[in-house]
Amino acid sequence: MDYGLTTSAGEPYTNNIRNRMSKSKSDKTSAAADRDLYSGLIRLHVLHHATEEPIFGLGMIEELARHGYRISPGSLYPLLQGLEKKGYLRSTTQRDGKSLRRVYRATPLGRRALAAAKSKVRELFHELIEGD
Ligand SMILES: [Zn+2]
Repeated sequence: MDYGLTTSAGEPYTNNIRNRMSKSKSDKTSAAADRDLYSGLIRLHVLHHATEEPIFGLGMIEELARHGYRISPGSLYPLLQGLEKKGYLRSTTQRDGKSLRRVYRATPLGRRALAAAKSKVRELFHELIEGD
């Protein structure tokens, strides 16, 4: 299953990970594991930016790429729709020249969810990075 994540260098993400890990697991297994590992981070990242300014799909794809996540429109748009369905984002359509662009903003529920996640991320950061 292709979920569109690659490294910033453009290599398939799973190849990069696989080279450093045991090769006993199948590609499918590690691809699924990577997707599961990073999807929450990507959601939090999206939510963070949506609390700061209105975001749209292509802009968010570029922003995530800046941070080393390559995510395809086919993966990001369902993610945005999922966050909207949960009530964390609300979208409106804006005219952008000749085309319509769907723009997302965080809802009060999304802001509260992000605030709660922040303290968990902080705690995880301490444990992972600072060895607390
Ligand atoms: Zn960012």
